[in-house]
Amino acid sequence: MEFEFGAESDALRARLRELIAEHVPADFLGAFTDDPRDLEVAQAFCRVLARDGLLTMAWPEEYGGRGGSIWEQTVMREEMWAHHEPRGAQYMGVNWVGPAIMKHGTPEQRARFLPPIAAGEVIWCQGFSEPDAGSDLPALRTTATRADGGGWRINGQKCWTSYAGIAQWCFLLARTGGHRRRGITVFLLPVDSPGITVRPIRSMLGPHHLNEVFFDDVAVDDSGVLGEVGEGWAVVRDVLAYERVGISRYARCDRLLQLAPQALADVWDDLPESQVTRWATALLETRGVRLLAYKVLQAQAEGHTDPAVVAAYRVAATLLDQSVAEVLMDLLGSAALGPADPAAAADPADPEHRLARFAAAVEDHWRYAQAATIASGTLEMQRNLIGRTLVRHG
Ligand SMILES: Cc1cc2nc3c(=O)[nH]c(=O)nc-3n(C[C@H](O)[C@H](O)[C@H](O)COP(=O)(O)OP(=O)(O)OC[C@H]3O[C@@H](n4cnc5c(N)ncnc54)[C@H](O)[C@@H]3O)c2cc1C
Repeated sequence: MEFEFGAESDALRARLRELIAEHVPADFLGAFTDDPRDLEVAQAFCRVLARDGLLTMAWPEEYGGRGGSIWEQTVMREEMWAHHEPRGAQYMGVNWVGPAIMKHGTPEQRARFLPPIAAGEVIWCQGFSEPDAGSDLPALRTTATRADGGGWRINGQKCWTSYAGIAQWCFLLARTGGHRRRGITVFLLPVDSPGITVRPIRSMLGPHHLNEVFFDDVAVDDSGVLGEVGEGWAVVRDVLAYERVGISRYARCDRLLQLAPQALADVWDDLPESQVTRWATALLETRGVRLLAYKVLQAQAEGHTDPAVVAAYRVAATLLDQSVAEVLMDLLGSAALGPADPAAAADPADPEHRLARFAAAVEDHWRYAQAATIASGTLEMQRNLIGRTLVRHG
C-alpha cells in the first residue's frame, strides 16, 4: 500500500515546523512543567495557529475550519506530538469536544461553544472516570437529578480529570436514571460553577495534569445538556473513537530516535554494536506502527473503521512508546542523570548543551510513556476488544 500525503500536506508540515521554530522554545517539553511560562507558550501558540486558520483546520467550513483532509490532519497530529504538543490541553477541544458538539449539539450550543475553541481561547476537561468507573465507565455514579425550579443538580466525584485546574469548561458524564449505558447524560458546564471543587493529584506527569473533581449540588440548566437526556452513551462512543486516534505517539518516538546520533555525539561513537542494533530495530518498529496508523486512517477515510483494528493500533503504539523510551534511556546511559558539567550545558554552542536538552526530552518521554497504556482505555481493555472480535468472527 502506498501512502501519498500530497503537496498540500507537505506544505502544511513545512509551515507547522516554521511556526514551531518561531513560537516554541527549543527546550519546550510541553505545557505541564513546573515552569508556568510553558503553559503560556502553549496558550499563545494556540492563538497563533487560530490566526493562521490552522487550529481547527480539520473542522468543516461551516464551523470555521477548512475541511482539511485526513492526511493533513495526520500531519498536524504528527508535528504537534513530535514537538511535545505545543497546543497544551487545547488539543482536546479541537479533536473531540468541538466535533461532539457539532454532531450532537443544538444550534445555540454550536454558536456558543465552537467559536471560542476555534479562536484558541478555551480549555476543556473530560469528566468521565470515577474512583470505581474507569475501564468500566458505565458503572459511573455521579448523578444529575431534576431540580425543583427546572434544570439539574449534580452530585458525585470524578478522578484523573486532566487539566481540570486550568480548564474553563467540563464535558461531564452523569447518571440521570436507568442502568449502566442507559440513563447517562452529557452535561457541558463551567468549572467555576458553585459547588465544584478541584483537587490536584500529584503525579510524575507534572502540574495541571491529573485531578479529582467533586460536585456538591452543582446547578446546571437545560441548555447545558448535550444531546438527548439519558442517551449520552451515543456521544461517549463518538468521543472515544475521536480520542483513540488523536495522538500520533510514533511521531515523537521517531523524532527522538532520529535525534539520538547527533545529540549523543562522542557517546554515540563508543556505543557497543548491540545498542546501535536496538536503536535501528526501534526505528523499524516505529515505521511499522506509523504504517499501521496510516492503514487505520485510510480505512476511516473510506468509512469502514473496525474498532478491533483501532485497538490493535493502540496496543502497538502505546507499547512502542514504552519500548522506545527504554531504548533511549539505555543509549543515554549515565548522561540520563544530567550534564556532567552544568556550566558547559548552559552554553547553547557547547555539545553538552545539546546532550542535556536531549536527555531532558527523553526523560519527559519516558515518564509520559508509562501512562500511555492506561489513558483512553487500558492495554488490557484494548486486548479484550481484539479478543472478543476474533471470537465473534471465528
Ligand atoms: C495520563 C492520564 C490521563 C487521564 N485523563 C483522564 C481525563 O481527562 N478524564 C477522564 O475521565 N479520565 C482520565 N483518565 C483516566 C483513564 O481513562 C482511566 O485511568 C482508565 O480508563 C483506567 O481506569 P482506572 O484507572 O479506573 O483503572 P481500572 O479500570 O480500575 O483498571 C485497573 C486495572 O485492571 C485492569 N482491568 C480492569 N477491567 C478489566 C477487564 N475487564 N479485563 C482485564 N483487565 C481489566 C485494567 O486494565 C488495569 O490494569 C486518565 C488516565 C491517565 C493515566
